[in-house]
Amino acid sequence: MTYKTSPFCSVWHNNEPYFFIDQEPLPTKMEAEFVIVGGGFTGLSTALDLALKGKEVIVLEGGKIGLAASGLNGGQLNPGFKHNPTEIINSFGSNIGKKLIEFGANAPKKTMSIIKQHKIECQLEKGGFVQPAHNKASLRIVDNRVKDWKKYTDKVDFLDKNEVADLLGSDCYIGGFLDRRGATLNPLRLVKGLAKAAIKAGVRIYQNSLVTRVYFSSGKWHFMLKNSSVQGMAAGIFTNAYTNNLIKPLKQTFIPVQSFQIATERLSKEITRDLIPNGFGVSDLNRLLVYYRRGPDNRILMGGRGTFIKPKSKGDFVLLERKLTNIFPILKDAKFQYYWFGNVSITPDFMPRLNILGPRAISFLGCNGRGVALSPALGPYLSDWLINGNDHRLPLPVSKKLKTIPFHFLHRLYVAAVSSYFKARDWVD
Ligand SMILES: Cc1cc2nc3c(=O)[nH]c(=O)nc-3n(C[C@H](O)[C@H](O)[C@H](O)COP(=O)(O)OP(=O)(O)OC[C@H]3O[C@@H](n4cnc5c(N)ncnc54)[C@H](O)[C@@H]3O)c2cc1C
Repeated sequence: MTYKTSPFCSVWHNNEPYFFIDQEPLPTKMEAEFVIVGGGFTGLSTALDLALKGKEVIVLEGGKIGLAASGLNGGQLNPGFKHNPTEIINSFGSNIGKKLIEFGANAPKKTMSIIKQHKIECQLEKGGFVQPAHNKASLRIVDNRVKDWKKYTDKVDFLDKNEVADLLGSDCYIGGFLDRRGATLNPLRLVKGLAKAAIKAGVRIYQNSLVTRVYFSSGKWHFMLKNSSVQGMAAGIFTNAYTNNLIKPLKQTFIPVQSFQIATERLSKEITRDLIPNGFGVSDLNRLLVYYRRGPDNRILMGGRGTFIKPKSKGDFVLLERKLTNIFPILKDAKFQYYWFGNVSITPDFMPRLNILGPRAISFLGCNGRGVALSPALGPYLSDWLINGNDHRLPLPVSKKLKTIPFHFLHRLYVAAVSSYFKARDWVD
């Protein structure tokens, strides 16, 4: 059976068989030492590592593997966080800052090594990550970024106007940042591949198993579902931008934002000859940024921030269509075939959050659009923490108290206000 197609089917899901697990439904009562909630990159990579260390693990996935962000994203395996290394040191201090920088920088490599170790066929193509500059303000960002990253790696370079035009096939930029540690892949194949490897290693994954409440009592974690309950000694809550009220007030610690994506029809080799080579992911430097790449079957994919409510029709994606044809006028007659969307979790400082929720319980969220590299790479660290509970071995700072966003219930208004402000600033710049 294939993933259910809808007007908003992604380029990755079309005709792809859904992830099938040949097992009994979740019994009404069950127990395992390690219980993971969320079957995306984070949950599956953690569960896989635990099972490889001989641990007994259950994954509870509320929907189907591949139907949340991990299966719907743009497949850009980008290094680092949103911030430059110096900004990270300034915010977190030298010790934690250096750990963060090293983890972010090596995350694509670590994720690629997991892909290799488990022979996951996910159309991985090594190329690079490009951030092109469209005006003087963004050129200054590029210049700083190159100088800053050069202190840590020789894999980054400044691209002048001609070099960007040659690489991307667009004349609308005046320079750019190139990071050769980046790559692209098919995210749905990656998340399914992780699930397959996890099952092979002994993990029991239950799809359509939405957890409605999690609590700690009598030395155990209790996971409540509609018709079942599961108990465990250690809990990983990896529900990211799809977090419900399972454990309060986790949902109030980030803002869920919809990211929209489009993909063209298959294009002829003549049209795409000079456009973005395979393996390169691109993300511009507007405050309301767009990201794009070449996709399967010679298509061009573009994503960006969507509307505040779920799209009703393909008309809601018209701004992305316009943006793509402005950047690549050669695509003006190209037809768009795929339109889809998913949730991204945004935090106030654009940095991810590791929250300790109680004895041997941890959550990870807030990848701010960088989770393709960060989430699978973090899995082995999360697994280590769930076994040993040693905070110092984690590559990110941990928080022992959930920091909620004030007036979170107004988040739609926040997003609307910030988007309008960003749009105006982008226009002024
Ligand atoms: C459209 C889009 C484009 C993106 N593009 C990129 C990109 O190009 N590069 C990049 O680095 N990042 C990108 N991202 C971000 C990236 O996809 C995420 O950071 C990453 O997939 C997060 O993985 P995760 O496992 O933490 O969360 P998810 O993949 O969201 O998985 C969480 C899972 O938890 C399940 N769940 C939630 N609540 C419950 C519950 N109560 N009980 C049981 N299960 C539950 C959900 O069903 C879901 O399967 C993009 C995201 C979107 C939406």
